[in-house]
Amino acid sequence: MLVQFYNVSKIYSNGVKALDDVSLKIERGEFLFLMGPSGAGKSTLIKLFFREEVPTRGQIFIASRSIVRMKRSEVPPLRRNIGIIFQDFKLLENKTASENIAFAMEVVGANPKEIRQRVAEVIEMVGLKGRENSFPGELSGGEQQRVGIARALANRPLLLIADEPTGNLDIDISREIMELLFDINRKGTTVIMATHARELVKAARKRVILLDKGRVIADNPNGESIV
Ligand code: ADP
Ligand code: ADP
Repeated sequence: MLVQFYNVSKIYSNGVKALDDVSLKIERGEFLFLMGPSGAGKSTLIKLFFREEVPTRGQIFIASRSIVRMKRSEVPPLRRNIGIIFQDFKLLENKTASENIAFAMEVVGANPKEIRQRVAEVIEMVGLKGRENSFPGELSGGEQQRVGIARALANRPLLLIADEPTGNLDIDISREIMELLFDINRKGTTVIMATHARELVKAARKRVILLDKGRVIADNPNGESIV
């Protein structure tokens, strides 16, 4: 089991209950979608994974370790095991594709040789060969998201979290990005994708967790009853 949430609630300091008694389990190697209307608690749930927020109640285990009672010094290693990609890519504009990826490894202290090898590997994996030295501004949206994915994979995370990764992309490019995420999943990385893109979810036939008002209102193994 990779992830276990037990009766997790999150109440922000302003009194908003963003998550209400959420329990869920995610196996290693799963691909799952997180859906729900704006304000349902998706971002809050995602923030709990890498300990940007801590729950008000409940327990969370990742790879059998409690991340609720975790010491401050254990947070960076946790975050190294979780890759994240964003709707707006969040690339460094003054760094090339390669440099953006390398930077993610430099900050965790990888050596230059390791970095060179791994950057070439992930560039190849996401289909960006030949674009290594382009700056984000010179790349299309789909290419920028590929850089984001390569960067998220650089440190070989157990878990890849994609927060609306296709939200800024048109449908054909979105489908290509989905194929890439499926491919990464087939190679063993667990993937959690928050999205509003119902047509992509429907086509994927993967597990869907539906949140509403902070509660899990459906958890469907192949997406059928959701869309
Ligand atoms: P989303 O695209 O997930 O709907 P939001 O626009 O709701 O994003 O939120 C943007 C950021 O502001 C998030 O980091 C969220 O945690 C934070 N946020 C949302 N609602 C509030 C609030 N009522 N008070 C403070 N921060 C909030
Ligand atoms: P979603 O990602 O599904 O849009 P969020 O997790 O961003 O949902 O928000 C769930 C609820 O928590 C919303 O009512 C939002 O306004 C509130 N919220 C989110 N972040 C904060 C925050 N930092 N402080 C206070 N309220 C927040």
